[in-house]
Amino acid sequence: MAKPKVAFFDFACCEGCQLQVANMGELLFDVLGAIDVVEFREVMSEKGPDKIDVAIVEGSITTPHAVEKIKKIRERASVLIAYGSCATIGGVNGMKNNFKLDDIRKEVYGKDAKYFETIETMSVPQVVKVDYLVNGCPVYLPEFVKVLKAALAGLPYQVPDYSVCVECKLNENVCMYQKGVTCLGPVTKAGCNSWCINNGNICYGCRGMVSNPNEKGAKDVLEKYNIPMDLIVNKMNMYNKCREIDQREQKKR
Ligand code: SF4
Ligand code: SF4
Ligand code: SF4
Repeated sequence: MAKPKVAFFDFACCEGCQLQVANMGELLFDVLGAIDVVEFREVMSEKGPDKIDVAIVEGSITTPHAVEKIKKIRERASVLIAYGSCATIGGVNGMKNNFKLDDIRKEVYGKDAKYFETIETMSVPQVVKVDYLVNGCPVYLPEFVKVLKAALAGLPYQVPDYSVCVECKLNENVCMYQKGVTCLGPVTKAGCNSWCINNGNICYGCRGMVSNPNEKGAKDVLEKYNIPMDLIVNKMNMYNKCREIDQREQKKR
């Protein structure tokens, strides 16, 4: 039986998620036997066929050309997975949306600005239907593999919609607030196994906001530790400036 044809694509991003996948070693071997990678710019020069089974897309949509390209990819692919915060929620590229587009172009391209078209940053699900999301900056590889297996088996995958704090508590970490440091775990979607906190860092909110954050609980924590709300909002803006299209909204398309 022919293996499913899988292709990787990238848009505006740092390519960190591709690199994670390219370097994933044994985990990759686990799925590699079951798929035929037909296009992956980071590791091969070949181009895939017109029809592919699974497109795995990294990066945000930031130009008219990118809009056309992602639409063509969508037409080619039976299943589309958006992976990494840039693709799933706009991520750090969304910070561009804090500024006027003309100001941005002039800042970046100077006198040649008129040659470079640009649009507000959008996540991939803001432009085309996406079947699976793998949030995170970069993606958390065990989750990426889980989603890829689900896609290949035709099974659903739902991004967890409870906070990173849940995983953090299960991992028995000492809370960052107790150490006098601000952490976005209480309002951020889980699924990374509290990766950053386990390694002595804070949560930066890279997986996007939970859809129903415990606002009262969060306010109580901020008051207890005398942290201004503005500080949290500014920190959230690092990854969360695009309008999030969640899987429920995607299903209606
Ligand atoms: S999600 Fe983060 S690591 Fe992945 S491509 Fe975007 S900026 Fe890079
Ligand atoms: S606030 Fe941060 S450190 Fe504290 S429990 Fe939540 S995720 Fe963990
Ligand atoms: S702990 Fe927060 S910042 Fe770190 S990977 Fe998880 S969601 Fe992203």
